[in-house]
Amino acid sequence: MTTKSGPNPMALLAQIDLEALGRLSEKVDLAALLGAASKMSDKQLSQLTRMMAGGEHKRPELPAPDADFFGQLDGLSDDERAVAATTKAFMHDHVAPIMNEYWNRDEFPRHLIPELRKLDLLRKVWNEDGSRKPNATVVEGLITMEACKVDVSTAVFFGVHAGLAFASIALGGSAEQKAEWLPKMMDLEAIGAFGLTEPEGGSQVSQGMRTTCKRDGDGWTLRGEKKWIGNSTFSDFTVIWARDVDTQEVRGFIVRAGTPGYEVKKIEGKTALRIVENGQITLTDCRVPDTDRLQEVRGWRTTAEVLKLTRAGVAWQGVGCAMGAYELALAYAQNREQFGKRIGEFQLIQNHLVHMLGNVTGMLATVLRLSHMADAGEMRDEHAALAKVVTAARCRETVALARETLGGNGILLENGVAKHFADTEAIYSYEGTNEINTLVVGRAVTGLSAFV
Ligand SMILES: Cc1cc2nc3c(=O)[nH]c(=O)nc-3n(C[C@H](O)[C@H](O)[C@H](O)COP(=O)(O)OP(=O)(O)OC[C@H]3O[C@@H](n4cnc5c(N)ncnc54)[C@H](O)[C@@H]3O)c2cc1C
Repeated sequence: MTTKSGPNPMALLAQIDLEALGRLSEKVDLAALLGAASKMSDKQLSQLTRMMAGGEHKRPELPAPDADFFGQLDGLSDDERAVAATTKAFMHDHVAPIMNEYWNRDEFPRHLIPELRKLDLLRKVWNEDGSRKPNATVVEGLITMEACKVDVSTAVFFGVHAGLAFASIALGGSAEQKAEWLPKMMDLEAIGAFGLTEPEGGSQVSQGMRTTCKRDGDGWTLRGEKKWIGNSTFSDFTVIWARDVDTQEVRGFIVRAGTPGYEVKKIEGKTALRIVENGQITLTDCRVPDTDRLQEVRGWRTTAEVLKLTRAGVAWQGVGCAMGAYELALAYAQNREQFGKRIGEFQLIQNHLVHMLGNVTGMLATVLRLSHMADAGEMRDEHAALAKVVTAARCRETVALARETLGGNGILLENGVAKHFADTEAIYSYEGTNEINTLVVGRAVTGLSAFV
């Protein structure tokens, strides 16, 4: 191509795609362009020749963003891998295209429920009798992780229905109650919600529950308020936890939508998880038949068992959210240019990315181990609490670095990271705040309780 006297013009011309040149001539002044080329030095012409030949100046292909740097998910079984892939495809095909619109509308896309039903995800976790599959916590975690990479709210809809509400009936219901509700819940024909938190009782709800129930002939009268109850604006029932005024014991009830005295008002103006619909529930002399009291609930112990199970799921939410934010930030850094370079070439940006990746790698190791312990029946409260504390804190740090990596674009919904950034604040506070879970772990490791 290059002769002793410089680039060979005939060889250069041979590289030219005449059709492309024709299209180019409609957009630029070719005569001026060739005039400019004629003034190029030999070195510049050589560079141009190499570029046209697809030579060394073509940008090398960059590695695709992948948050599983250690290949920790490579050891999954084929079934586990298939569930993760199904969830991922659902999120990309059905949720990603509409999630920003629904975030702005502060609304859950209920029309997706029939699509989600087709995936039959609950049967990958639970058996119809309410027992769990041998690898239930890992599978539930993978579903949660793949959902949260794209949208945490979708995982919360699923976690409230398939975790909190389903587990309440699975652990606290009689055989008849399980037979009535669990198959319908698996088919998403009956959507559940879980009503524990109260306006005056968040962290302290186990000790200061104000919602009461009183035996009244063949039924019970419920009075009180519940706050933050996910899915409750459209659920078919909510599991309501209430203190028995006669025995002081905590009891659980299946309260069906439309029951007189049961009212749900949507909580407006959230700045996190806007796609989840949270309700404030008022129970005014609400009468529930004894047949809808969860017959096998053994006081607060049963409620705590449900929360222990679902806390592992919330730890996975933090992992998925951080993974999603990291991959978005990396892709952005590989493409965004400033000062004539891609920002991924800057040392300080690489520091952000490596910090994020370190967080994500440690978080994933934590939840995988936790889930194997849970599935082996070895997970204690303090294990789930530590995983929740660590993943929520690392997630918060990771999404902030991802947001920072996108500069101003990081606060625009359209770039993805902003939603992860906002949603992390809810992950940080529910299913036991950072402080409460820290106290649970602190008590376990010291043998001394610092609870007031
Ligand atoms: C988006 C969202 C969805 C939710 N979904 C549901 C749901 O579906 N069902 C449901 O029942 N609940 C739900 N919740 C409620 C959630 O579980 C509570 O928000 C959580 O338990 C914390 O309670 P609180 O918000 O009342 O905070 P508070 O308990 O008032 O705590 C305020 C602060 O004080 C700290 N604190 C409290 N006690 C102590 C202590 N002893 N020592 C040190 N610090 C302490 C806390 O850590 C926190 O920092 C949801 C919440 C949110 C935000």
